[in-house]
Amino acid sequence: MFVDSHCHLTLPELHGRIDAIRADMAAARVDRALVICTTLEEFADVHALALRYDNFWASAGVHPDNEDVEEPTVERLTALAALPKVVAIGETGLDYYRLGARTLDQMEWQRERFRVHIRTARQVGKPLIVHTRSASDDTLAILREEGAEQAGGVFHCFTETMAVARAALDLGFMVSFSGIVTFRNAEDLRDVARFVPLERCLIETDSPYLAPVPHRGKVNNPSFVPHVAAAVAQLKGLPIEEVAQATSANFERLFGVPAVSASAV
Ligand SMILES: [Zn+2]
Ligand SMILES: [Zn+2]
Repeated sequence: MFVDSHCHLTLPELHGRIDAIRADMAAARVDRALVICTTLEEFADVHALALRYDNFWASAGVHPDNEDVEEPTVERLTALAALPKVVAIGETGLDYYRLGARTLDQMEWQRERFRVHIRTARQVGKPLIVHTRSASDDTLAILREEGAEQAGGVFHCFTETMAVARAALDLGFMVSFSGIVTFRNAEDLRDVARFVPLERCLIETDSPYLAPVPHRGKVNNPSFVPHVAAAVAQLKGLPIEEVAQATSANFERLFGVPAVSASAV
């Protein structure tokens, strides 16, 4: 059985098709998924999915790319984190990819928002789901400054260098691989996937984005996560069953999620 550790099922491409997606997940032996929150406005929908289905869980957080949305506070996130089936804080982090005409000084709001998430995670004892893009130095510096190793977490949809992977592991974080690891031009990332110890790896779809080969270009969904597992298995020279089992166990350990009985799927 496989776990999708990161998907956006409340986005319109997927939200109206949950029953069909769940059937596809069962057929593909994907037995669990973590549904990721990206705005406070979206949280109720994310949480409703986790409450409705035994094998879905939820996060609480505001994505660094989301501007003109309600700004999270430690108090607000702490309250959401206490709700049933909320197992992680995020996704949060830094994204300087869409700077446009702005300078890094003008992105202080993003760094402050990230700090709020880290402080919350430490306070509530739940792991962080970290998004970092074109901002790895600041991401790592802030994680260290805020004592994020006390909360732990995962660098999701990893696309950074070997050095950043090493730093993430040194902080006690896990590294999550998405469909990008199957893309033809992702040789550097495949080196990272060979390097990260299996007991620190997660797999994810980040759906509806980034569908793995052989579905590249389609709308992604959690039933495609076995293709990510197959790629990681091939890179590590392991049977896919071993990658499925290890990444599922890692998911349970990081998020404090129990193994799910077959009847719940
Ligand atoms: Zn992300
Ligand atoms: Zn995401």
